[in-house]
Amino acid sequence: MVNHQTIGDRDTYLDDHGTHLGDRETHVDDHGTHLDDRAVRLSPEDLAALQENLREQRLFRQEQLRQIAAAPRAEELLRRRSAGQAEVHVKLAASARMVLADVEAALRRIAEGSYGSCHLCRRPVDRERLMIVPQARYCAPCQQARYRRTGEAGR
Ligand SMILES: [Zn+2]
Repeated sequence: MVNHQTIGDRDTYLDDHGTHLGDRETHVDDHGTHLDDRAVRLSPEDLAALQENLREQRLFRQEQLRQIAAAPRAEELLRRRSAGQAEVHVKLAASARMVLADVEAALRRIAEGSYGSCHLCRRPVDRERLMIVPQARYCAPCQQARYRRTGEAGR
């Protein structure tokens, strides 16, 4: 047997290198100013896969929010159970709503044909990055710069 990775999922090998994604991709910058959006255009298949992924995420988040909403209200949990659990619910709902908004925005961009370019520098976002974070608005360097600027205070 050569290997038993029958799934052949591209994501699985990307995960191994995921933390410094994009380092190599930026080599395009060295050569230049003639970067254009066409350079790393996503194929129709890529786009379809990403759209599918986003739709699944949207469903998942909508369901998650429904479940959180159906759970006892936070104040009640505070009284009846641990305060910690109530806090977890509030945070979960907040982050689910945030991701859902991002996912919906990405689906809108696909519909409008503006999907896949960085909102800050307008360069194409790495395909690998989109495969991992389909709702990404920024390319890896811009995202990192944002993290650095906002520090620990915000997101
Ligand atoms: Zn950028």
